[in-house]
Amino acid sequence: MIIKSTEEIELLRQSSLLVGKTLAEVAKILKPGVKTIALDAVAETFIRDNGAVPGFKGYGNFPATLCISINEQIVHGIPGDREVKDGDLVSIDCGTYMNGYYGDYAYTFAVGDVSDDVLKLHDVTKESLYLGAKMAIMGNRVGDIGFAIQSYVESFGYSVVRDLVGHGIGRNLHEGPEIYNYGRRGTGKKLPENLVICIEPMINLGVKEVVMEDDGWTILTKDNKYSAHFEHTVVVKAGKPEFLSTYEFIDEVITMNTNIR
Ligand code: MG
Ligand code: MG
Repeated sequence: MIIKSTEEIELLRQSSLLVGKTLAEVAKILKPGVKTIALDAVAETFIRDNGAVPGFKGYGNFPATLCISINEQIVHGIPGDREVKDGDLVSIDCGTYMNGYYGDYAYTFAVGDVSDDVLKLHDVTKESLYLGAKMAIMGNRVGDIGFAIQSYVESFGYSVVRDLVGHGIGRNLHEGPEIYNYGRRGTGKKLPENLVICIEPMINLGVKEVVMEDDGWTILTKDNKYSAHFEHTVVVKAGKPEFLSTYEFIDEVITMNTNIR
């Protein structure tokens, strides 16, 4: 675990802010018929125009700026010629790298006429992220975050992906500790003040098991049922966490773009 100084937290805040603004740019053109590669191009241009570089492109040889994962795809989907369709659940994860520090967070958009079942999954997953983040306070343990997420989503009959987890962030995209989206209260590593972590529940409508697509990147649900993914970056503090990430720019676009929520 690498504790961050005040200066480092400010740099992380800037990288993180750019993620939020980039996701909002992408949301502006997100509608049925758009190709995922077009969303990726908008994100890459916007990030570079703002003096940063994409945080994911080239990371472990990942070929794109965004991870775009649709419906049964959970995370790490590669943008391409696929067109977004009415009724799709589209997870968009974005990374930035600026002044030596990474930004990394994600939002899942419901596009067009999404079924009530899927919309509920979307809403519950988003809420679970905030419940987990609330536990990111000094003296709590990693298991407190996981417990908050798991107990909430399982009360709706959903399952928590075990194979992928959240993480610390800083000069590296992925730092310790691993932030599980499941766990037991009072267990795991103790959270120190000024640790910066990405919390990212990946919640499935059906079974928790996952498989990898032939592309070697895309992770999808074993039963092909839908999955949702939301991610925030927070600083562990006394009493309550400090959010470095924000959905405020996305929320503004959602109020104007009636194709998405
Ligand atoms: Mg992450
Ligand atoms: Mg991410």
